Amino acid sequence: MTAERIAKSTIHPSIPHHLQDYDAERRAFSWDAARSALDGLPGGGLNIAHEAIDRHVARGAGAKTALRWLDKQGQPHDFSYAWLRELTNRFANVLGTLGLGKGDGVFALTGRIPFLYIAALGTLKNGSVFCPMFSAFGPEPIHQRMSIGRAKALVTTASLYQRKVAGLRTSLPDLKHVLIADLPCEAEAPEGTLNLQTLMDHASDQFTTVATVDEDLALLHFTSGTTGRPKGAMHVHGAVTAHLATARYALDLHPEDVFWCTADPGWVTGTSYGIIAPLTIGATLLVDEQEFDAERWYRTLQNEGVTVWYTAPTAIRMMMKLGADRVRQYRYPGLRFMASVGEPLNSEAVVWSNGAFGMPFHDNWWQTETGGIMIANFAACDVKPGSMGRPLPGIEAAIANLTEDGRLVFVERPDEQGELVLKAGWPSMFRGYLNEEARYRKCFVGDWYLTGDLARRDEEGYYWFVGRADDVIKTSGHLIGPFEVEDVLMEHPAVAEAGVIGKPDPVALEIVKAFVALKPGFTANEALRLELLAHARKRLGAVVAPKEIDFLPGLPKTRSGKIMRRLLKARELGLPEGDISTLEENK
Ligand code: AMP
Repeated sequence: MTAERIAKSTIHPSIPHHLQDYDAERRAFSWDAARSALDGLPGGGLNIAHEAIDRHVARGAGAKTALRWLDKQGQPHDFSYAWLRELTNRFANVLGTLGLGKGDGVFALTGRIPFLYIAALGTLKNGSVFCPMFSAFGPEPIHQRMSIGRAKALVTTASLYQRKVAGLRTSLPDLKHVLIADLPCEAEAPEGTLNLQTLMDHASDQFTTVATVDEDLALLHFTSGTTGRPKGAMHVHGAVTAHLATARYALDLHPEDVFWCTADPGWVTGTSYGIIAPLTIGATLLVDEQEFDAERWYRTLQNEGVTVWYTAPTAIRMMMKLGADRVRQYRYPGLRFMASVGEPLNSEAVVWSNGAFGMPFHDNWWQTETGGIMIANFAACDVKPGSMGRPLPGIEAAIANLTEDGRLVFVERPDEQGELVLKAGWPSMFRGYLNEEARYRKCFVGDWYLTGDLARRDEEGYYWFVGRADDVIKTSGHLIGPFEVEDVLMEHPAVAEAGVIGKPDPVALEIVKAFVALKPGFTANEALRLELLAHARKRLGAVVAPKEIDFLPGLPKTRSGKIMRRLLKARELGLPEGDISTLEENK
């Protein structure tokens, strides 16, 4: 913990911060009042896409740029609110023509192309449920998500379809329609798929948004646990109340802003704040199709006049490595607020950014299940480098320990470590894991939601991240369940046992590292190691697959046969082995 502070932002004081006085705002806040900042559907009900697009058009802001998309070459393409309304209407009509309606799952597997954004919002208009997936996923994670979520339609590109989905069609009986998003109108789509552009051109641009209500399902976001298959966290239309309120408080977003959220919509950040929140506020959302490239990012911040920037620690650490001089080669006169999420943001990075950009990154904390930012450093408050900040208005957080008989004992003393817990009841909270009631129930003790993160709170109420309470791995911002990786390694004929850990890494925070024990008759050598790496990469995709594999004669297990990942990790790092009373080695 560092005692150093960075004084609250004084940049652009002409734009009053949404949150001026932390304590007063918390006292005055109510979720009912936050809900009334939304319009609701003209005939009653609430729909995210209406709040994000149509209501701005109805108020006369149709000509304003809603989405500025930079293609791979960096060329900007602008979509006004009015045009986005028309395009999402057409997409909703396409879904209707295909027989898709309320509650049906529409999945996406694309890079950050305009159709991803059009599909997300058009799906919501249609009352269907949208589920974005990372385009870097391999066939295994894609198949798991689409089968658990019973995807009825998929929006993808011709090459992603051929490489990753075509071979899965027979094992996805619910998947009726595949819409190819990158073909010119009337071009022939691959067998068993449809050309989305052709369908869009033939669809009407008039659509009456389906009258969803606050508790209707809107989004499905998959996340990983320590064991079992990925979990589909269900989010409802009412979440938009929290998206709007939290973006005002934690990102200080105003309608005048040009907002750049670098996250991919395959991750919840890229949907809640990379689509919904900025549009609901009426700002201009910047999207870059290209992946991280420091030089391009600095140029983009400068040339596009970005005012609020939301990114992640892995990218910040990569920028740090290149040095502050590179940052200073460009000018950012409009930039007034920078925030970070997804992994711990070390204090050095906060201090560095303050020197390099003239303002610090404001760390904030949340997760797939919370649907929106829960804890944040605010523009109008001092930043404590290394701290995630304080709970947002409307959010009650605490540090607690779970007793063996299932009670929560709250930690009152400052700086004492325990699990971060949140009092249930904010609108963007997940409503369950799809078809996994028991796993959902396990997240709660009474009214309190257990986050699975260890943290501590200091005497001023600032929260400090300590680590995960489980074996889940965070690599370059992606949450990876070790079980999913072990499962795929075990498919290989040579593998008898597999154990997967997160190995600390100076840039990616952790990398996925696997330990395998071989079946009799197989020899541990470099050729087999490369074969296993390739097998995992082909099945899981580059994001999830292990970067390192080591062979062991046998893996450490408990007497009940569970692989002791913690012990593997302690040995890898040369740390004390801790309690090994249940260890059964080499069995
Ligand atoms: P995800 O559900 O993929 O967004 O991952 C959520 C997890 O990322 C949290 O439970 C934390 O372990 C981690 N995380 C998110 N934000 C932060 C942060 N600001 N500091 C430390 N860890 C974070």
